[in-house]
Amino acid sequence: MRVSTASSRPGDNRMYELEVQNLIGTGVRRGVSVWQVSHRQLNASLRRIHQLGGRLVRITPAQGHHEAPAAAPSDTPVATPATPAAAAKPRAAKAHADVPVNLYKPKDPFVATVVGNYSLLGEGAIGRVNHISFDLSGGNLHYVEGQSIGVIPDGEDAKGKPHKLRLYSIASTRHGDNLEGSSISLCVRQLEYKNEAGEQIYGVCSSFLCDIEPGTKVKLTGPVGKEMLLPPDEDANVIMLATGTGIAPMRAYLRRMFDGGERAQNPEYQFRGKAWLFMGSPTSANLLYENDLNSYLEEYPEHFRYTKAISREQKNPSGGRMYIQDRVTEHADEIFALIADPKTHVYICGLRGMEPGIDEAMTAAAAKCDQNWTELRQALKKAERWHVETY
Ligand SMILES: Cc1cc2nc3c(=O)[nH]c(=O)nc-3n(C[C@H](O)[C@H](O)[C@H](O)COP(=O)(O)OP(=O)(O)OC[C@H]3O[C@@H](n4cnc5c(N)ncnc54)[C@H](O)[C@@H]3O)c2cc1C
Repeated sequence: MRVSTASSRPGDNRMYELEVQNLIGTGVRRGVSVWQVSHRQLNASLRRIHQLGGRLVRITPAQGHHEAPAAAPSDTPVATPATPAAAAKPRAAKAHADVPVNLYKPKDPFVATVVGNYSLLGEGAIGRVNHISFDLSGGNLHYVEGQSIGVIPDGEDAKGKPHKLRLYSIASTRHGDNLEGSSISLCVRQLEYKNEAGEQIYGVCSSFLCDIEPGTKVKLTGPVGKEMLLPPDEDANVIMLATGTGIAPMRAYLRRMFDGGERAQNPEYQFRGKAWLFMGSPTSANLLYENDLNSYLEEYPEHFRYTKAISREQKNPSGGRMYIQDRVTEHADEIFALIADPKTHVYICGLRGMEPGIDEAMTAAAAKCDQNWTELRQALKKAERWHVETY
């Protein structure tokens, strides 16, 4: 299989830069923001700017962008300095230069307020996994789908020093769960294990978050990460492999793709590709965001597919526990056929331990069609179509 790095956008490849002022509800609340949009998205973007109360300052053909770049989030709104001279500077050629990073650093974090904290688990589930939302009003903390945020838990470590930050994948879209553009949500599993002495240990930050009460102030840093960004193409294919809280970025992608309120906010992104989520979970009570996923299945059966591997309840063909890699093996031909399409991106997120199993399954599937998986994966990575964030 040849891995194409070419643009997946058919037809007219002209790109434009739109400089916009006064946007509301996009997470860009100050100064001028710059959108890069394709010719095809131009009209929808102008309507969107109007809807958001924004003012179009300038529209210019994007320099050096006669063709859309392979994976840059070209229509992502980005914060830029508010001076027209600075805003008019040619943008860095670096990939994803538009994506906000490190707006808040550990020395000067953003102080957010918790607005919600509830369990995502069903009756009889193992452990504790919560959905926690924060209000970001009054600052400039904004993000796009696929990024992570730093949390600095209150208190001190064993050496009497303030705790270090922990990263969490962002589970909401840039508009937040309430679509107002000033909140962020996380999906957090409380770390719990027995140490060598047999004592029960609970993780510092994950316990801090799972126990947190609405109204509490929390120090946040970031956002960080450009590995897990969604392609801007509305007709991309997105294969997602998640275990446990690895669903967090996938939840954000799927909301952006299929949630009614999100779609109304994003006329420039009306997803019409194929999204396929493989979800690994120990029990069905541990499956996360099931109601949302089932509603997308009902409303978009042509565009969304959901395959579960529930290890303690389902058996693989050899009679063992069903893990996500077993589902990958089961659907390897379809996955490979999709990967051959340059519009396809693969996202892997969850516990680090999930990677070897997936690699093994892909190696076996690749061998069946005389392919070398290591080489193929490298080519996909180079084409920015293979995205991994495990922890
Ligand atoms: C990019 C990124 C995204 C992430 N996204 C999420 C997310 O969306 N949701 C989420 O819940 N987590 C996420 N994490 C993990 C998160 O950052 C924390 O690592 C996790 O919450 C544990 O932090 P803690 O403070 O609770 O644990 P700590 O108190 O810091 O304890 C962690 C330490 O405990 C020890 N330990 C852990 N397990 C065992 C064991 N079984 N036996 C012995 N020792 C052990 C290890 O030394 C480990 O370093 C992400 C991590 C990264 C890097």
